[in-house]
Amino acid sequence: MHRSELTIELGAIRRNAATLLRALGGAELWAVVKTNGYGLGALDVARAALAGGATALCVATVPEALALRRELPEPRILILGPALPSEIAQAREARLELVVADGEIPAGVPVHLKLDTGMGRYGFSELPTPAADVVGLMTHLATADTDEAFAAEQIERFRAATEPYAHLTRHVANSAAALRIPAARFDAARCGVALCGLSPFGEDPAADGLDPALRWESYLAQVKRLEPGRSTGYGRRFVAQTPTWIGLVPVGYGDGFRRDMTGTEVLVAGERRRVVGTVSMESFAVELDRELPVGTPVVLLGDGVLAEDHARGAGTINYEIVSRISSDPTRARRTVVE
Ligand SMILES: *Cc1c(COP(=O)(O)O)cnc(C)c1O
Repeated sequence: MHRSELTIELGAIRRNAATLLRALGGAELWAVVKTNGYGLGALDVARAALAGGATALCVATVPEALALRRELPEPRILILGPALPSEIAQAREARLELVVADGEIPAGVPVHLKLDTGMGRYGFSELPTPAADVVGLMTHLATADTDEAFAAEQIERFRAATEPYAHLTRHVANSAAALRIPAARFDAARCGVALCGLSPFGEDPAADGLDPALRWESYLAQVKRLEPGRSTGYGRRFVAQTPTWIGLVPVGYGDGFRRDMTGTEVLVAGERRRVVGTVSMESFAVELDRELPVGTPVVLLGDGVLAEDHARGAGTINYEIVSRISSDPTRARRTVVE
């Protein structure tokens, strides 16, 4: 048993790709693997998504794309975020595709023009006339997961502005839109979170037929009984009222088990147990109902323990929970299974 074990299930990613392709009714699936594949590993998620039918990869930065290109000579790779002027030649040489959201449109490299239809982030306010190297037109939805009416307005604005250029590849949908907004399909969808088996709606991923692809496990490194009035952790935020068994798990916010995840539940010997007291950099405590042996397995993600549940407790979204989990080999052992 390692102090922290991450297991990436490629089969789950392939199944999620198939689920998305079914929902997309003929549009292409492009796999978004930015931020190290949402923490699961960009290259592993990319390979599994391609095996599952995805036809292009998307990342946020040129360095992310160059790292993928070294391992994957074939697939299309789009850079969703802004490229620095100094990176454009590198992108051209590595056969990457750029998203251009304002200013000059560079030549000699395939370009996707991004229109701001309501996200209010990167994007042209008015679509410029596509130059010769433009291969795609895109926009990004602000509320695909929360407000379908606003998403519909964005889609309509995009449709109207891009109608004269329908011969170019038009792409709008993220995971939420791919799963639930048919009008957003166009020619391709850019999906990340759903490929990892996470719900873009913060619900149980099973509701959309998604299969979580990440397991995170550890173990009880020490078990002790707190007498009434004794506490565990910084700030004495948990004080035992009655004699209470606690287990210490050697994972903390340094591993990505966030400090605001006090109160969330993990599985200890297969039973749901509450995280109590302040999460430290290298450990957290769980309340037990009895003495358990050191070495007892603890499941932090998997077997029904969902990133969505941890996110709700911490007041954030599942995206942030998983993308912050450290796969630094000095902290965690990472295993990839078919
Ligand atoms: C991150 C991102 C996506 C993917 O979003 P998911 O909700 O993870 O599917 C799609 N498009 C753009 C522009 C993005 O930045």
